[in-house]
Amino acid sequence: MNKKHQNMQLTIRNLSKTYSNGVKALQDVSLDIPTGMYGLLGPNGAGKSTLMRTIATLQNADSGSVMLGDLNVLEDKEELRRRLGYLPQEFGVYARLSATEMLTHLATLKGIPPAERKEVVNALLQRVNLWEHRKKAVSSYSGGMRQRFGIAQALLGAPQLIIVDEPTAGLDPGERNRFYNLLSEIGENVIVILSTHIVEDVKELCSNMAIINNGKVLYAGSPDTALEQMQGRVWEKAIAKSELESSQQQYQVISSKLVAGKPIIHVLSDARPDEGFQPVDADLEDVFFAKIMADSM
Ligand code: ADP
Repeated sequence: MNKKHQNMQLTIRNLSKTYSNGVKALQDVSLDIPTGMYGLLGPNGAGKSTLMRTIATLQNADSGSVMLGDLNVLEDKEELRRRLGYLPQEFGVYARLSATEMLTHLATLKGIPPAERKEVVNALLQRVNLWEHRKKAVSSYSGGMRQRFGIAQALLGAPQLIIVDEPTAGLDPGERNRFYNLLSEIGENVIVILSTHIVEDVKELCSNMAIINNGKVLYAGSPDTALEQMQGRVWEKAIAKSELESSQQQYQVISSKLVAGKPIIHVLSDARPDEGFQPVDADLEDVFFAKIMADSM
């Protein structure tokens, strides 16, 4: 274990960003992100990519600071990029290059010395389970294979900070599971930020998380603590489809889903709303929707 990395933390303070069209994408965002898997959860348009791109030094904030340990990220962009692995939302690939060729090319860009390149590339291809497919063009890969390739390139140069932006969007359940397994195997002494609108991603992988919406942090802490705060306040009822609208007017409905074609609603309330409701254990989905709803009221 590398002692130097053990207490590494990413410290984000008062980050704000308003785009020229007036959209406030980040509003005074402060977060402490320790090593391990950190979930950044928010609906589309919440400001996740803006935050990820700012931390990755691909765009500037209007104000605020980001520190990786002692490193002033926004001032020393070169050094940050040496310590960063980044899997962006849109990961471009060169049309006909094989996985080996492309990873070797990226290793060169990352400054990995020629004598080490082959070994590093081969080890990574094995690690993400693409060894068998190493000679195929990356552009011919399935969504899941492409994301695993994306992780391989993000791991080049043994980064201290890894950012993965919406990595499971578009993956089928099998691919998503393989991808979860791969992510969970990344070292404990690395900071991994997983930005996603999929609650399942955070539930499966993350020991810490933040929920953001409209550029603001609505919750930061462990998923368990968030769940505890909801305990005893979530109620469930099966209703007729025709009752959905009136229920939404009458109660604080945080979610509705169809079970065997019938809507089941979850309502947030300190006491049982009426006889038809049963108490249920809160899940992370309830936390997410409750926070988002409270924010937009
Ligand atoms: P997320 O990644 O959570 O979907 P984004 O950070 O992409 O959110 O976007 C946050 C908000 O900022 C959205 O309202 C989006 O439309 C807006 N936005 C993002 N990029 C730009 C840009 N380059 N110019 C103007 N508005 C932008």
